[in-house]
Amino acid sequence: MTVFLGTVLHFTDDPWVPCHEGHDDPKAYHLYDPGALVVRDGVVLWAGHHHECPREFVDHGRVVDHRGHLIVPGFVDPHIHSGQVDSIASPGGQLLPWLRDYMYPSEMRFADPDYARAATSFFFDRLLECGTTSACVYTTIHPHATDAFFAEAHLRRLRMVSGKLLMDDDNGGTVPKEYLDGPVEQAEEECRRLIDRWHHTGRLRYAVSPRFALTSTLKALRMAGRLYQESRHTDRPLWVQSHLAENRDEVRAVMEKFRDSLDPRSYLDVYDKCGLVGPRSMWGHSVWIDDEDRALLADAGAGAAFNPTSNLFLGSGLFDLDGAARARARVGLGTDVGGGTSYSMLQTMNEAYKVVAMANTYPHAVEEKHRKTLTGLRAFYLATLGGARALHLDEHIGSFRHGREADFVVLDWAATPLLKRRTEVARDFHERLFVLATLGDDRAVKQTYVLGEPVLRHRWTRREA
Ligand SMILES: [Zn+2]
Repeated sequence: MTVFLGTVLHFTDDPWVPCHEGHDDPKAYHLYDPGALVVRDGVVLWAGHHHECPREFVDHGRVVDHRGHLIVPGFVDPHIHSGQVDSIASPGGQLLPWLRDYMYPSEMRFADPDYARAATSFFFDRLLECGTTSACVYTTIHPHATDAFFAEAHLRRLRMVSGKLLMDDDNGGTVPKEYLDGPVEQAEEECRRLIDRWHHTGRLRYAVSPRFALTSTLKALRMAGRLYQESRHTDRPLWVQSHLAENRDEVRAVMEKFRDSLDPRSYLDVYDKCGLVGPRSMWGHSVWIDDEDRALLADAGAGAAFNPTSNLFLGSGLFDLDGAARARARVGLGTDVGGGTSYSMLQTMNEAYKVVAMANTYPHAVEEKHRKTLTGLRAFYLATLGGARALHLDEHIGSFRHGREADFVVLDWAATPLLKRRTEVARDFHERLFVLATLGDDRAVKQTYVLGEPVLRHRWTRREA
């Protein structure tokens, strides 16, 4: 048993309060300062105020002192690509040409098993140095690269959701032939083999992963939907992940592509008609959707990933966080590296704040009393419990409730001279947290813990320099 001392913050609900912008629901979060987090056998035994920590824990536990630092649940990133480690920060314009010119060539390098393993290992080091302990991850089309992903995740004892990309439509010649799946039956067989091998191996879960509607034939989307639906009422249901309505050109092309075959009401309706929308389905971006789509996501128990750095980098659009909240849709905060520009969930919170702020001005100015803002607390909620709920993993991760897996991150308010100076003059905890979300990055991560054990810092070569 180990007792971790520090400022402990976690959530049991979304602190968003309708009609009270900028205020947080005090019942949704738990702040213990000074606090204690007690971990036994990799799970949370107790979290609370230090002075209320039961004697038996203090007397019999090993004490690890992080006083003066902030302890929060490990970050949960519901949308990221392990196949894009070498193509982050690619100046490719908007989504479709950027995919063609940078992402597909970069992901094709994973055909080499040695490269795949080394790049995947690098990917996990970046996640952990940023305090991200769980994620929903796209690999590449290669089964062996997906094996490498799961093997590396298992080695690190991480809770991860992932799956092999499904792509069998060259989208008008924009995808190289050698980066497409073979016949749908073969892709299905590859998925089934990966599911048998990895789904429910330790903390791992499999997501059926059609890249998006433009790079899959209708037959492949239906196959993906069938795999998911077949599993839904078993004791090992599958996850689904795909990209939804990221960019306006993409939406137009999708509606055109499926007009005759599906006569869809919306982009999301294409996926829904293929059986892909339901609980544990995670929809990246969801920028250009309407209220009917949001209601469908909410009713289905599906999740949306808000990827601000990616949406800004590719000029895709502004995610409507308020619309999603009003619809009661499940939302997590995602980095979407390599479209996103940082592995750090703190930097992602920083950009999320700006996207929410921009929506007050663009496309139409909003009256002052109706303007939206993202509080520091809510940003941390989205990056922890929000993501866990969006992925239906909140029974395991995302909070410090009794019995949750003890993945957590220790953050340093004074990691840089600027952070130190600015957090010292913050008026209260809320402002301090906001400053950390805005100015923080991987440097603010003092230590990442997985199942109560510190992640070996010698892997983070930069820190040893
Ligand atoms: Zn993506």
